[in-house]
Amino acid sequence: KTVLFWFRRDLRLSDNPALRAALNAADRVVPVYIHSPHEEGDWGPGGASRWWLMKSLARLDRRLRDHDSRLIIRQGDALDCLHSLLASTAAEAVFWNRLYEPAVVERDRKIKEWLKQQGYHAESHNGALLVEPWELRTGKGEPYRVFTPFWRALSKRDEPDSPLQKPRTLRPTAQWPSSLALDELKLLSGIGWEDKLETHWQPGEAGAGDAMDRFLDQALVDYKTARDLPDVSGTSRLSPHLHFGEISPRQAWHRVRSRMAGQAAVEEGGWTWLRELGWREFAHHVLFEFPHTPDQPLYSRWQDFPWRKNHEAFVLAWQRGETGYPIVDAGMRELWETGYMHNRVRMIAASVLVKNIRAPWLSGAKWFWDTLVDADLANNTMGWQWSAGCGADAAPYFRIFNPFTQSRRFDPEGRYLRRWLPELSKLPDRDLHAPHEAADGILHHAGLRLDRDYPRPIVDYKSSREEALAAARAVASA
Ligand code: FAD
Repeated sequence: KTVLFWFRRDLRLSDNPALRAALNAADRVVPVYIHSPHEEGDWGPGGASRWWLMKSLARLDRRLRDHDSRLIIRQGDALDCLHSLLASTAAEAVFWNRLYEPAVVERDRKIKEWLKQQGYHAESHNGALLVEPWELRTGKGEPYRVFTPFWRALSKRDEPDSPLQKPRTLRPTAQWPSSLALDELKLLSGIGWEDKLETHWQPGEAGAGDAMDRFLDQALVDYKTARDLPDVSGTSRLSPHLHFGEISPRQAWHRVRSRMAGQAAVEEGGWTWLRELGWREFAHHVLFEFPHTPDQPLYSRWQDFPWRKNHEAFVLAWQRGETGYPIVDAGMRELWETGYMHNRVRMIAASVLVKNIRAPWLSGAKWFWDTLVDADLANNTMGWQWSAGCGADAAPYFRIFNPFTQSRRFDPEGRYLRRWLPELSKLPDRDLHAPHEAADGILHHAGLRLDRDYPRPIVDYKSSREEALAAARAVASA
């Protein structure tokens, strides 16, 4: 008996429940990847994600070949590709792990229905979440919109099952169907922007394992405090690996739990980190239950928020890291160079875009979508709507981050700012966070001319804050 195993964003061999089920069900398993970004609505993978995908698929294929198997690559409508592969391999079934983006859910539902109608066996599993989005409900039987009770409910459940071991055999076939070469998917932009990502990341299952090891050995113990400091390697940097399923959340969960066992010193860091994994679960819960949220606010009254007219030039300055708010500019340049931005800085950069510049949160979400290696529809939507104050568990509208205070608090010695904004590096620590407020003599001494070497803030912080508050107050009380 032959079956197809459809790899999607579960690019790993260990703890892969649908792969395990396929291997248990058949003598021969044909692993398939189908590139069909047009079936993901407006949210086909962005530039940085396509680079990651390319690398991760290449590594997965290599791993499969180590086991005498291989990855069959196709491109087009997923249903057509599966249809033709079923015919050419005489396979009787298709196995896959579920995804939760609205357009993909809808497409997969149709595919499953079609397969069953045609007499094929179709089987999907949960390989991406600790708990399925529909499993947790409030006392009233509704989906959660607030994180804390969601997390309470999640952490009250039994701990997730132990991860599955890597399979010993992949049940290769003797006759492989034709496959595209990875290059034919044209995942790279052609302008070489992505080349530099190589120096910062190691896509693939082995890279995910290394990142996990590094985090457990070097950062878990101090995670609670160090996670907020952008110049410190205080977080796991597992987000792209989790997004592409190179490590499963339950593998991560159990690695952390076993490190915590009997070690009081890592107990606090451990739970703080697992709670972040809980935010990922919450974001998927909200995305699945409220499928309009990638493009529209969770709460519809925020649809009327009066964004700044003609904001395009401001958005461009924000993208380029030329806002005159150093912590924002440093973050935007980190993003451009590495495909990543520290979470604390993401919150500040997003707040300045939506509150001070008052540009639509979607304009920021789209830029992140194209440039983040961890771009993830659930987490990105959650992050932006949280920042804009229009989403699940968002900060109340009257709480607006002060980017200068945040910068002084979380990067007191300016190490992060100096790394990404070398033009400011000679300023004393005290003035680094707000060069436009520095005395002329200090600027002169540091060799910095405002407007020429570094911009003044493109919007005045105090007055833009007042305008944002007034606009939000009007919407909130409407
Ligand atoms: P760690 O601190 O090590 O956290 C562990 C894991 O928990 C992360 O890998 C991630 O999977 C999850 N996690 C942590 N924080 C959050 C959070 N706030 N929401 C949901 N999951 C979380 N994260 C993405 O994965 N993809 C995105 O596209 C994304 N966009 C964001 C946009 C904005 C405006 C903001 C404010 C946050 C966004 N985040 C996003 C959340 C967060 O910034 C990243 O998950 C985190 O910085 C990744 O680094 P890490 O793996 O070292 O995190």
